Amino acid sequence: MGERVLVLGGGVIGLATAFELSQRGYAVTILEKTVCGGQASGAAAGMLAPFSEIGEDPDDFFQLCLDSLRMYKKWQQEVKRVSKLDFEYSESGSLHAVYHDADVLALETRKSWQEQWGTEAELLTGDQLRKMEPLLSKDLKAAMYYPEESHVFAPDYVLALEQACRENGVIICDQLESVEIIEWKEAIHLRSKSGKDFRADQLIICSGAWASELEHVFHIRIPVYPIRGQICAYDMQENAVNHIIYTSQGYFVPKANGTLVNGASEDIAGFQTSVTEKGIERLTNWNKRVFPHLSQKNPFHTWAGLRPATQDGFPLIGKLQEAEHITFATGHYRNGILLSPITAVAVADLLDGHKSIYSPLQSCIPERFS
Ligand SMILES: Cc1cc2nc3c(=O)[nH]c(=O)nc-3n(C[C@H](O)[C@H](O)[C@H](O)COP(=O)(O)OP(=O)(O)OC[C@H]3O[C@@H](n4cnc5c(N)ncnc54)[C@H](O)[C@@H]3O)c2cc1C
Repeated sequence: MGERVLVLGGGVIGLATAFELSQRGYAVTILEKTVCGGQASGAAAGMLAPFSEIGEDPDDFFQLCLDSLRMYKKWQQEVKRVSKLDFEYSESGSLHAVYHDADVLALETRKSWQEQWGTEAELLTGDQLRKMEPLLSKDLKAAMYYPEESHVFAPDYVLALEQACRENGVIICDQLESVEIIEWKEAIHLRSKSGKDFRADQLIICSGAWASELEHVFHIRIPVYPIRGQICAYDMQENAVNHIIYTSQGYFVPKANGTLVNGASEDIAGFQTSVTEKGIERLTNWNKRVFPHLSQKNPFHTWAGLRPATQDGFPLIGKLQEAEHITFATGHYRNGILLSPITAVAVADLLDGHKSIYSPLQSCIPERFS
């Protein structure tokens, strides 16, 4: 049997990491206070869209996102193979649409640096855009087409990850309500609310927006904050929209089941995952400007989740320098679904004792705020 690893948190990051570690022979247990995928990960729109999301600056974060996008095809095939579950993975491409001439200039600037990263970005006129997506507003002036951007159906992806973990022998302890870290310096010892003890050789912190609760345990600053995302879905005819549509005020992701997912607000509400009238109204008011036909429709479903934002926008991925048996993988903010493969592989490489091949991880050192 391989080294024993405890993974704290069963969101997409904890599940993907547990999956990769179990593939490499580690004996993994996930500790989850509610249900796996029940927080941000199950709420996500599932976009895999680094070019649309990170337009201004090709920094280390962009590079991590792009590398992860390019791992996705093989990664999702492996999750499907092991879990024996199917989930939607669509290489739909995306259209980043704008309203003003000044924004067209900004798209051109993006194109010039993005092409250096090997993508085929194509600037489309308004007419070309509406040829690809006839329901879009005539007010849209232009768009950048990114054929590489893709999406997954996030709730099904996390379900498949959970099942793939189980198939590989990962023990999943959920509904624990709370988990306390009793000891971590010399040995790892955690205890659930019901008094069950868990011991291991390695501990991975994947507790998403709740990671800052551990500041007093590890005596480092963990500036991870919950940013609520309110989001909704429309019932559409299948194939009415075919690409991800990205705009300055919101995005649309067409799913194979005929729904059009439309997100998302960014507001601060502590750890509340409630949906507010104001939050959804902001989306629906904007929607009509992008898809005029939506003014005749109401979303049939609304929900919300808490994105784990960090002070500098980079996630925390890496071992604690003072305690190499503690590894952080949290703070993925708007891109945790996208970053799940690269995070899982990077963490597993670190546990294997390899220096990570991903140099951008230098910007993700967990203690950098302390
Ligand atoms: C509306 C919305 C839309 C989004 N769209 C996208 C998108 O299109 N593309 C994309 O890439 N990303 C998207 N995201 C972001 C993405 O969802 C997150 O970055 C990602 O889910 C974070 O995963 P996680 O595993 O770190 O966190 P979570 O999914 O929140 O999981 C953390 C888990 O840890 C558990 N936990 C916390 N503390 C403890 C403890 N002490 N003991 C045990 N368990 C604990 C929690 O219960 C939770 O289940 C979106 C997010 C939202 C809210």
